[in-house]
Amino acid sequence: MTDIYWDETIETMPVEQLRQLQLEKLKASVARAANAPFYRDLGLKDYRIESLDDLSKLPVTTKQDLRDSYPYRLVACPLDEVVRLHSSSGTTGTPTVVYHSKADIDNWTELTARCMFTGGMGFHYAGEHLGCLTLPTGPGNTSRQLKFLKDFDVSVIHVIPSYALHLADTLEKMSIDPRKYLPKLRIAFLGAEPHTEETRQKIQDFFGIKAFNSFGLSEMNGPGVAFECPHQNGLHIWDETLKPVPEGQQGELVITTLNRTAMPLIRYRTKDLTHVVAGQCSCGRTHRRIARMQGRSDDMLILKGVNIFPMQIEQVLVGTPGVGRNYQIILEAKGHNDHMIVRVELDPAMFAGDLASLEKLKTKLTHALRDEILITPDVELCEPGGIPVAEGKAVRVVDNRPR
Ligand code: ADP
Ligand code: ZN
Repeated sequence: MTDIYWDETIETMPVEQLRQLQLEKLKASVARAANAPFYRDLGLKDYRIESLDDLSKLPVTTKQDLRDSYPYRLVACPLDEVVRLHSSSGTTGTPTVVYHSKADIDNWTELTARCMFTGGMGFHYAGEHLGCLTLPTGPGNTSRQLKFLKDFDVSVIHVIPSYALHLADTLEKMSIDPRKYLPKLRIAFLGAEPHTEETRQKIQDFFGIKAFNSFGLSEMNGPGVAFECPHQNGLHIWDETLKPVPEGQQGELVITTLNRTAMPLIRYRTKDLTHVVAGQCSCGRTHRRIARMQGRSDDMLILKGVNIFPMQIEQVLVGTPGVGRNYQIILEAKGHNDHMIVRVELDPAMFAGDLASLEKLKTKLTHALRDEILITPDVELCEPGGIPVAEGKAVRVVDNRPR
């Protein structure tokens, strides 16, 4: 094994052979899934799969199906083979539950180890699997997080991008030079929420590190579904197959598990929007790449008939000098029309500046946003730290419109 792959045989398998392996695994996965009451009732065992194209004939599975299957209708193996379940909080209704067998946990560890091998770490089991000293810290308590990063000479972190920016804000407020304070930090794995290329750059520049995009969802395993290699040009997606859309064309990521035993999922609709990156990556991995997520289909805002993704707004803001690290989009009803307010934190240096330059920045942002999203928002500038930071994933959109 060379030192740039974790599992060279599988990561660099010739495409033909890889597709053959996927086909065999797909047949097996569908046969296993057919044992679950949910898929049995759909008649899954009667679907014939002769080629990967037949995938598109299979029924899709949605989050609602997961809810409706609570608690056990998606379990495909004897219950005594299940060793772990992860459940969502159920705050929006019936919880969704994902089951794992021992083999599933081991497989997840392998997949995530593959993701981290050249990139970073932070995913607990995979970190340990690679022999890294692994420190789970959970959310919140920023000063404690910073102390741990420093005292334990942490070299790689796995972090939500908005929280990485919050760490940056905190260091800046304390007038601490991040490169001197955290000299050992080399790599960040950014995951769990959509973010732009500009945000990645900002994080890389501030800490003087490399930042890699890491994608996952709990319905699959969690992190480790797709990751960026050192070339930082699209995310390699592991052994799951995609619903075929032409390369380059945006679509919804639909994932079929190939190795899961406790709870195989067939054509699971993630609602995440991306596209397949054409061509082969120069890192030598033959697994297809997907572009960074543009967002989820349910994050799309429709205002005055125009479709808008929060990431379009982030791209404009983060790319503009004088803008700080946090922002929020507020939607309001104004008479019969919907109205958008974009609240933008200022860079501390800009905040200390004169009124005329603030006015100039506001006009510049208003025009740049109008050019990008085709409607004119009200831009509100606020002091650094003026927008509350969420405990977990950033809350980018506050919709105050009456339902
Ligand atoms: P987790 O708790 O690991 O974030 P969830 O199942 O709660 O898992 O959330 C998964 C969702 O988070 C994905 O469907 C996607 O919308 C979003 N997500 C995760 N990673 C990324 C990423 N790297 N880029 C964009 N969105 C992401
Ligand atoms: Zn690559």
